[in-house]
Amino acid sequence: MSQKEAPNQLFKVRHSLAHVLLMAIKHNFPHALPTIGPVTDTGFYYDLDFIDGVKIGVEDLKKVEDTMREILKRNLDFKIETVSVDQARTLFAVNPFKLELIDGIEKEGQNVTLYHTTADAGQDGNDFYDLCEGPHVENTKEIPTDCFTLSHLAGAYWRGDETKPMLTRIYGLAFETKEELDAYVLQQEEAKKRDHRIIGAQLKLFTVSPLIGAGLPLMQPNGMIIRKEIEDYLWSLHCKKGYSRVWTPHIAKEALYITSGHAAKFGDELFRVQGKEDKFIMKPMNCPHHMQIFADNQFSYRDMPVRYFEPATVYRDEKSGQLGGLLRVRAITQDDGHLFCTQDQVKQEVSTIVGIIKEFYTTMGMMEGYWVSWSVRGDDKSKYLGTDEVWDLAERSLEEAAKANNLNYRRVEGEAAFYGPKLDFMFKDAIGRQWQLATIQCDFNLPERFDLNFINAEGKKERPVVIHRAISGSIERFMGVMIEHFAGNFPLWLSPNQITILPIADKHAEYANTVFEKLQDSNIRVKIDNSREGLGKKIRNTREMKTPYWAVIGDAEITNGTVTLEHRIDGKIGEMKIEDLIKKLSEEIKEKK
Ligand SMILES: [Zn+2]
Ligand SMILES: [Zn+2]
Repeated sequence: MSQKEAPNQLFKVRHSLAHVLLMAIKHNFPHALPTIGPVTDTGFYYDLDFIDGVKIGVEDLKKVEDTMREILKRNLDFKIETVSVDQARTLFAVNPFKLELIDGIEKEGQNVTLYHTTADAGQDGNDFYDLCEGPHVENTKEIPTDCFTLSHLAGAYWRGDETKPMLTRIYGLAFETKEELDAYVLQQEEAKKRDHRIIGAQLKLFTVSPLIGAGLPLMQPNGMIIRKEIEDYLWSLHCKKGYSRVWTPHIAKEALYITSGHAAKFGDELFRVQGKEDKFIMKPMNCPHHMQIFADNQFSYRDMPVRYFEPATVYRDEKSGQLGGLLRVRAITQDDGHLFCTQDQVKQEVSTIVGIIKEFYTTMGMMEGYWVSWSVRGDDKSKYLGTDEVWDLAERSLEEAAKANNLNYRRVEGEAAFYGPKLDFMFKDAIGRQWQLATIQCDFNLPERFDLNFINAEGKKERPVVIHRAISGSIERFMGVMIEHFAGNFPLWLSPNQITILPIADKHAEYANTVFEKLQDSNIRVKIDNSREGLGKKIRNTREMKTPYWAVIGDAEITNGTVTLEHRIDGKIGEMKIEDLIKKLSEEIKEKK
């Protein structure tokens, strides 16, 4: 979560549970050495060293969980106290990890804050201490005993350093209520079934080749159909709104990114290319390129706004450990666009983009439960570039556009980029997971850095405002999200194969071919199964490929000049003439149902 919030009750519960977990571990595994135990987005974890070759297994988690519930029922107080570094060293004398942490605290010249549970808390009724600054609940009775569970175990290096000891990480899930916990567990199980890497392989959508490298997925023909449909749809939404297509190369001289500031921002994430004479960089962003296209025209106020659109691939050297499937890649294709406008035009332009976003996500079935972060400046105004006046105007324009479009938005302070305020769109997928996808950002920085201008009504040079916008975000990531959102059951317009013709026997093949050709001529993506398999098996195969429709052809259909249509969810639709079939499918495709 990028949103900064003051620690709330849930945070305190999760954090307190990490300590309770440790108490329970000490009860069951007295020699285990604790290290650190922070809060996560869904609960908490604790890293421990189970010394002397003692191993904790998944089967032990239940027992530890039961001990945790016992501890919660004892109504223990959580206290915070401050002790000297020396006192802390005495308390944690047998634990080299904690001693290392105390050394760090000493270096910073601070006292040590301890979390302390009194009375009958520790093993053998001793007091229980841990290094910690809180915050906690005041008493364990505030923690419902059924709102958490220990979910799994993993290995983790001490301080994330692979030269240091491997520890055991115990993960816990914790929510405000049992219902929320159950819903989350269910969502995770559902997410596993929808894993886009598994569905991607099953439907042959994309390929990751070790010879090509991690984070560089390749589109198979089936995946390319989906990708192209998404790109075409995005362009169709823009071309009516005054956008022009542009194209930019994949490399540029380093000087471009020094001017734009991206060389400093991306640092070692940049891919560098040594030419015979010049040094190049694989572009990490398209923005500076589009600035150059604008700069080569002397536009006047009558030409504004100027709008460019380009689905373009950028390259970033993400850490290989973070790459997986389509969600995190090194070749990222943005459905990128930049528009250049006067300050007065910001509201109207943002409004138009919001309209496009709403239309796009309505089609994708993701408008339910969305929200928009109206990301504005924080208190420290020195962190931001541009005058108060321009900021106020841009922030207000964004809000007015949000209001005019009835967006479910909320003001999030301090989340603006240093170069301007923005609207960030969060959408929920079919199983309720939230994804940040679309964004609209005002920029006062790049026009300044590239000295962009247009001639205003007074005949003077004036700086335009740049608006960056992306509707799907990255097309790779968006495809990954869509595969999981639809669980591979794409709507007809996105389906790689839209209908399969199933002749029952060899003697039906000729007529089946005629139907096949007619559908193909009508731009419907169609396959035919001429195998010797029985009809049942053919239908099962078609279902496995998640094909929306299939048309069965036997003696009756040939006599009547029809097909019998079936749908993967609606089941048998019935016999219909070829023309009616084409009409039905074409309409459904056109309307993107
Ligand atoms: Zn604590
Ligand atoms: Zn941009």
